[in-house]
Amino acid sequence: MPVAMKDDRSRQPSTQSELAMRTQDTEATEQEPTVASLACHRKSPRPCFNQTLVDELAVIRQWRFLQFGTHDETNSIGYATAVSVIIGTPFLIETAEQAKKLPKIGEKIVVKIAEFLEKGYIQESRDILKTEKFRVLSLLSSVHGIGWKAANDLYNEGARTLDDLRELLPHRPSTLSYFKYLDDLSEKIPREEVDSIVKWIQHQLDKIQPGARLEACGGYRRGKSHSNDVDIIITWPHQDGLERGVLDKLVERLLRKRLVPNDGVLYHTMAGSERTIKDNRPADRLDALDKALVIFRLPAEANKRSKDKFRRVDLIVTRWPDFGCAVVGWTGSTQFERDLRRHAHRLNMKFDSGGIRERDTDRPIEALTEQDVFRVLQLPYIDPKLRNADP
Ligand code: ATP
Ligand code: MG
Ligand code: MN
Repeated sequence: MPVAMKDDRSRQPSTQSELAMRTQDTEATEQEPTVASLACHRKSPRPCFNQTLVDELAVIRQWRFLQFGTHDETNSIGYATAVSVIIGTPFLIETAEQAKKLPKIGEKIVVKIAEFLEKGYIQESRDILKTEKFRVLSLLSSVHGIGWKAANDLYNEGARTLDDLRELLPHRPSTLSYFKYLDDLSEKIPREEVDSIVKWIQHQLDKIQPGARLEACGGYRRGKSHSNDVDIIITWPHQDGLERGVLDKLVERLLRKRLVPNDGVLYHTMAGSERTIKDNRPADRLDALDKALVIFRLPAEANKRSKDKFRRVDLIVTRWPDFGCAVVGWTGSTQFERDLRRHAHRLNMKFDSGGIRERDTDRPIEALTEQDVFRVLQLPYIDPKLRNADP
């Protein structure tokens, strides 16, 4: 299926080899390499070539997310996409002219980049960081269950501190429990702690249904030194069906063992196990995986700490044939996933963490491993550490 061509800069590579060439490390020649317009066609390392610039732009990006949410095409996504392009630019941007040639970079951002090139910072970013509203909205939206809209409403109602929030809060149980553990939950999680949490979960699973394979995804898998939560994909290799119903038992066991406090199950769905027909799920059941979003109590002895630590853990169970898609879908980053879906769409396919499908017929396309997912989507494999397409 031919890919839509706009202009030469944003044109999709037409062949596998052309695409591979583009995503390879480019030796500096007189001319800068062309930067692809989708994150799944680029390498996004952290730090990137233009990290200081990205750090400045990231503040404006975050400010937009806080005010308009993460789904607003004009106010948020356009900006996030532009920042993502800069993350994936494999050379140091030294002139505004270079920036202008990049895909998805509008005039307003070129002005910001020019300002950065001249002064070494962006005034708007500095100003945003100084505002109370930025600080308060950041704090409010970090609470599970409070989205950007609720955060703005609470701000307008006068919430400035966590104490204000406690009073103004709609008394949703998940929000309240999150509060109780907020000190721990707002700490970043170091890698060795992620490893430790995975081991604890593995041990508990062994008591329920031995042989599980666990893969820590999310930022951890992309190489981040510290994560906000732990995203664990669980499957039983070569054993389609063995996963059914296990997540219910796991959650029950974690509660019984007090590895998850009584008020620590923030969300729990068994949409995957409840599927009646395995290979012919209706389209609205795409991405229907068993999921439990919990607050996990990492016991002190496991961590050589003086006290237990409460950490956010996402537990996702997938059947083996969808394991590759689940891992790709939960590794992120967000912009990488967004562009991957866009790319799949152009190939007349649908991609998400529940599988790949033909768009017209809804026929599932098998992709067992992560490599299979990239192959089916006609992409050269991109290492998770090069999928850091968000700041
Ligand atoms: P950090 O956790 O450190 O903030 P992260 O990249 O791990 O960074 P998460 O919010 O944990 O961020 O999400 C990891 C990835 O999992 C996302 O990129 C997204 O693709 C996927 N993801 C998150 N929530 C869901 C969900 N409810 N359904 C499907 N995929 C999701
Ligand atoms: Mg995560
Ligand atoms: Mn997560």
